[in-house]
This record gives sequence, structure tokens and C-alpha cells, in this order.
Amino acid sequence: MRVIYFTLCAIINIVVLIIAIYARKFTHGTQNKVFLVIAWDALLSSVCDFVCTYLQVYAGDFPHKATVLFVSTTLYFVFRNFTMVALCMYVSVITNFIYVINEKSTRGKILSLILLVPYLLNVALIIANIWTGWIFTIDENSLYHRQPLIAFNYVVAFIYTVFGIVVLVAFHKTLSKSRIYAIAFMYFLAISSVFIQFFYPHLLVEMFATSVALFETMILVQRPEELTDSNTGMFNITAFRRHGKNLFLNKNPASIIFIRITNGKTLLNALDYETYTELLSKINDFIVSALRDQKLRGQLYHLQKGRFAILFKGNDTEISSFFADRLLKELPQTHELTNIKVETYYHVCHTLYEHNSDCSDFKSFKELMVLAENFDKILKPGKEVIRFQDQKSKEMLKQNVTIDSILMNAVQNNLFEMYYQPIYSVIEHRIVSAEALIRLKHDGKFISPEFFIPAAERNGLIHQIGDFVLESVCQFVASDKFKETGLDYVELNLSVAQCMEIGLADKIHQLTEKYGISADKLNLEITETAIDSSANTMLNNIQKLSEYGFSFSLDDFGTGYSNIKRVVTLPLKIIKFDKTFVNEVNNPQMQIVLKNNIEMMKEMKKEIVVEGIETNEMLKVFSDYNCDFIQGFYFSKPLPVDDFCSWVDNWKKQA
Ligand code: C2E
Ligand code: MG
Ligand code: MG
Repeated sequence: MRVIYFTLCAIINIVVLIIAIYARKFTHGTQNKVFLVIAWDALLSSVCDFVCTYLQVYAGDFPHKATVLFVSTTLYFVFRNFTMVALCMYVSVITNFIYVINEKSTRGKILSLILLVPYLLNVALIIANIWTGWIFTIDENSLYHRQPLIAFNYVVAFIYTVFGIVVLVAFHKTLSKSRIYAIAFMYFLAISSVFIQFFYPHLLVEMFATSVALFETMILVQRPEELTDSNTGMFNITAFRRHGKNLFLNKNPASIIFIRITNGKTLLNALDYETYTELLSKINDFIVSALRDQKLRGQLYHLQKGRFAILFKGNDTEISSFFADRLLKELPQTHELTNIKVETYYHVCHTLYEHNSDCSDFKSFKELMVLAENFDKILKPGKEVIRFQDQKSKEMLKQNVTIDSILMNAVQNNLFEMYYQPIYSVIEHRIVSAEALIRLKHDGKFISPEFFIPAAERNGLIHQIGDFVLESVCQFVASDKFKETGLDYVELNLSVAQCMEIGLADKIHQLTEKYGISADKLNLEITETAIDSSANTMLNNIQKLSEYGFSFSLDDFGTGYSNIKRVVTLPLKIIKFDKTFVNEVNNPQMQIVLKNNIEMMKEMKKEIVVEGIETNEMLKVFSDYNCDFIQGFYFSKPLPVDDFCSWVDNWKKQA
């Protein structure tokens, strides 16, 4: 007696699985699509299997019963044999081996043929069975009989299993251990059930085992929630990282378009979660349908915070480049959302990857991720699509990737140096102080502190760098060289991270004691960002340092959201007007802003430094505005300590 219940359970299992796949929108991307094909194939096989068994065991006689049985058995063989092909495709997709199969080269074609030939032969044999009866027959009592060539089915299944396992072993590096074990277990289930059914044909367990294997794969290998955002159904950054890594492991050429919603951060803060998700979904839908219109097989990812990537495998880079231009022009800028109408702006970047090639824009996975997250910071975006094709932009990318190790090396080997830029007093007509500015040379070229200070803040080396700055400035101020310059004090920049250091005040105080210098010889420059991001610790540090006698400057005034309350409440001695004021000085509106701001600060008894003065004309303008101090290339660029001392010496002689 045949046990039909296993097949019935298989049908129920697979139906539930398919409903879950559609309900959770896990239908995007090749991997999900192939998995869905396997599920449908398994369902059709199970239904045919069920019909065959039912007709033989439970159904009474009816006209053409033998024919119906013959047809359903034939279909069962067609679908069932396809399962192994689909499994092979699935393994090829998750290991990225599919790319080799897709390749337009002869190798690709041969591989595709090899992959399909056994199955097609088998299908031909199954169809021929209608006349030959070599695989199975149905007798006049509607009973099924195996025939010798049924063994060919097993041979084909064996070929595909071996093929799948070989791909899995060869490309195992593209998968985590847990996923390899999960797929191995899936094969184990499939193979063992075939054996059980071969030796005990009445125990129809094959389809049941397949349904269990599918569930196991869905939970352990697919893990769709890990790779997709459940609200929008879009692939996420984890998926991008996984697929990106595979590019390098398999040395596949590719081109990637990165898109950033320029005002994405503002929108994320301003909109509620549902509305923001609705916006992302709209942009996603636009890109997906644009890809479809152009018949392009690009995979779209939403990385995070309004950053997208589209991955095109293969070396058809011209098409993706053209698509990038089209996107920049056509991406929708106004969106009618449920409750609100919003506008979006975009930066688009097109990049290429080719293994071991100079044309490649990125050479490692790390470079790829730096590009994904920073392309618009590395190259200043204009109105065109950003491309990293010239040598300079490639070098900038390289610097972004290697900055951590450059900084680590610089900290360990003491490669930083302090430069000093003179500050001129308009009232006293002399150089009264200098700003200490850090310098780092790499491969004979300077790396801008505007670039490496934020990087050091991210990787934590900023504290060691800050300590170096404090120590060397104190050393300089304590030296005879400094005394000979006749300068009153030195200004030094405190980074945001330093301002957050608990115990900064005592550290600076102890340093000045160690070098025997008084607190009025140091002026500490802080920025508005520092005040914003570390209010309490910052205030404690400032208060304590003020008590020790140190004075403070507010650096880069006018570049942030200048908050007058801060200027009033903090013990600031100096306000440093940023060089952007100087650049705009010919604008009559700016002149009003400048004049009034300077007057206001003066009334509050603040001293004013203007930075970025490059010409005599600017010097005159700002002296007339009643600024106290002037700093800029007009006097001198920042100089190494000895050059600076000689410069001051010369200046005094000429004055
Ligand atoms: P900042 O503190 O506002 O420093 C002034 C910047 O303006 C310096 O750039 C200086 O070289 C530049 N500058 C001065 N006069 C002129 C001019 O006439 N024209 C132009 N175009 N530029 C001028 P630098 O040295 O590249 O430093 C950039 C920023 O990096 C600094 O801005 C500061 O925020 C940061 N930084 C520099 N050294 C240190 C440091 O030792 N510690 C910390 N935490 N930050 C530093
Ligand atoms: Mg400064
Ligand atoms: Mg400044």
C-alpha cells in the first residue's frame, strides 16, 4: 500500500512557503527568483505525484483513467527532473558562478550547454516514452511499472547533484560556513530521500523531503530579512556587501552606479518613518522600471540614508554609463506623498571594476565600500555624473581607503609636524601671535588636515594626535626661539573628540606646568560643532580651563548655524571670522552682515580675528571694519617652526 500522506504534507508545506514568499515580497533579485522557480517546480511535481498515487490507490475506475495516469506520471518526471537543474542554478547564483554561465564567451556557452544537455536528453526520453515505454508503462489495470531506462533519471539527477556540489566546493569562499552547511544538508535530504524511495517505493517521501529542504533553505540560506528591507522589499547594504565581496572573489567585471539623495539626511529628520519609506519606495520603483524599460539586468540596493547602488555584472560598461547619465536627468524631483509634497536632489556616480586592470575605479572590497558611502565627499559633485577616471581622483580614493593605515603609521613613527601661521594685530601693527596647524606628509605630498582630522576622529587616533599637538606647542612656547619672536601667545585647535575628553582641562594644565609656561600663552580654538556634539563635557572642560587661566576662540564663525546664545554664554575671548566672509566681501549684503556682526561682537567685548586675508586690499577692508587681528597668506602661509621664527625675525627688521 502506498503512503500518500507524505505527498499531501509536501503540497501543504510548499503552498505555505510560496504564499510566504509572495506575501513578504521576496521576489526581487536572481537568487529569490530562482528559489521561487524551485518552489513552484516542487509544487507541480508534488501535485502530479499526488494525482498519480491517488489514481492508482484510491480512485475507482473511470474512462481514460490509464491515459490520465500516463499524462500525470509523464509530467511528474518532467517537473521532478527539473528540480535538480533548478537546484544547480540556485547554487550557481548564491556562489556567483552563474556569472560564468551567463558569460557571452564560448566558455559560457559550453557551460550552459553542458548544464542543460542532460536535462533536455532526459525530457526527450520521457516524451519518447509515450511510444517506447522505456521509462515506465501503465498497464490495462492502470498500474504503474518501472522500466529499465528509468535509471537514466537517476543518472541525470546524479550528474546535477555532483555538478552542484562541485560548484559549492569550488566557490565555497563566497559563502559563510553556516550557509555551506545548510546547502550541504539540503543536498543530503534530497539524496537520502531518493535512496529511501528507490528501495521502498511505497514510502513516497521524496517530495516531502524536498519541501522540508526548501523550508530549511528558506530559513538558513535565503534569510531574506537579512538582505532586504521588509517595508520596501529593496535589497539592503548587507546584500550589497555580500554581492560586492563576490565580485572580487570571482574576479567578475562589473559596473556600479551609486546614487545619493543630496537632501536625504534632511528628509530623514523631517519626515516621519512611513512617509520617508514611501519616498524611498517611489524612487526604488522609478529606478526598477527604468531598468526594465531599457532591458537592463542591474540589481538595485538601498544602502542606507538615501544612498542607492545599482550593480551591473559584466563588462558592458557603456550601457551602464549611459544609464547613469539618464538617471541623473530623469530621477523624479518632486514627490506627491500621502500627506506631503517633497523635493529631492541627487548625486550620481558611475564606477567600473575589472580585475587587475588599471581602468578599474576600485581595487578592493574596502575601496568599493568607501566609494559607496563617500563618493560625493571624495570628489566634489558638480552637475554631471561623477566618474573616477582621471589619475587625481583615483589617488584621492586611494587616500580615503588608506588613510587609517597612514595615520596609524604616522602616530607610531611620530611623522606629524606643527606649522605656525602669523597673526597680525591691526592696532599694534605687529605680529602678536600664531596659529599652530598640524601637517602630515605622505609619499612626499601633504595630506590636508581638513581630510585627516575627521578620519582620525572616526578611527579614534585623534586623541594621540591631539596630545602630540598639545605637547609640541607647549614645547615651542617654552623654548628660547619663541621668546625671541616676542609673540604674546599661540592659538591651537581643539578637535571635537578632544573637547569630549573627560580630564582634558587637567591634562592641558599639567602640560603647561611641566613646560613651565603660563596659561595666558595658549589660546584654545574650538568650533561650533564641538559645542553642539558634546555640550556637557565641553562646558565642564571650558569652565575648568578658564579657571586655570586659558582663553578661548570660536573658530570658523559664520560657517555653521552661528548661535549667538553661545557667543554670549561661553567665556570666549576671540571670535574668528571664517575665510568665507573674506571671499564674499564684495557682496553689499555681506558687507552689512559683516559690519553689524563685528560691531555686535565688539560691544560684547570680544576680540576679532579674520582668517584668509590674501591681498593688501582685503587687509585694508578688514582693518577699516575695526577687526583686531588679521591672519592669512598675505602675511605668510603656515611655516615649520624654524622658518616661522626666521620669518618673524625678518618681519620685525623690515617693519
Ligand atoms: P582652521 O583652524 O580654520 O585653520 C585655518 C586654515 O586656513 C588653515 O588651513 C590655513 O592654512 C588656512 N588659511 C590661512 N590663511 C589662508 C588664506 O589666506 N587663504 C586660504 N585659502 N587659506 C588660508 P589648514 O592648515 O589646511 O587647516 C585646515 C583645518 O584643519 C583648520 O582650520 C582646522 O580646523 C584643522 N586643523 C589644522 N591643524 C589642526 C590641529 O592641530 N588640530 C586640530 N584639531 N585641527 C587642526
Ligand atoms: Mg583654527
Ligand atoms: Mg578657522
